Amino acid sequence: MVVAVPKTTAIQAGSTQVNSRLRRWLRVRTDIGDAGCVSIFDDVPAARRNNMAAIRSKNTRPELILRKGLHARGLRFRLHAKDLPGSPDLVFPSRQAVIFVNGCFWHSHSCKWGQVVPKTRAQFWADKRARTVERDVQALRSLSDQGWRSFVVWECDLRLNADRTIETSADWLGVQSA
Ligand SMILES: [Zn+2]
Repeated sequence: MVVAVPKTTAIQAGSTQVNSRLRRWLRVRTDIGDAGCVSIFDDVPAARRNNMAAIRSKNTRPELILRKGLHARGLRFRLHAKDLPGSPDLVFPSRQAVIFVNGCFWHSHSCKWGQVVPKTRAQFWADKRARTVERDVQALRSLSDQGWRSFVVWECDLRLNADRTIETSADWLGVQSA
């Protein structure tokens, strides 16, 4: 699934500084919940599985808001690149840059939505979300190793202040503010 992309020397690929920053950024939480392990999906009815898949689907409203805002600033991008680690939501090939739009709950954001503990099956969700965060860290590390810059946009930021979040993203991409 990983495509070979020429490395750039500008990126401090895989440095511990980058990694620890990513971890802080993503708020890796492996300490949620009690001891014990529930295997994912084992006892989840099919309907609920489909529902969960839907929740995680691409093209969410916050993602569309960001896409629209960046497009309006003249930015062009590929979507949901399955050939790159973590399947980034937006890919800017000429800038060697990708953007992920992360749902706060799934990716355990430090905001109030990201720290919600479900009333039922708390351990199940904790394990699942911890795995998601680990995958995020791995994907960002792999992208960095391949010379890609990565930026994570949180859904809550888009919901609470879309304009500013779009500006921040455009700035990060190196585009003059509109
Ligand atoms: Zn959030």
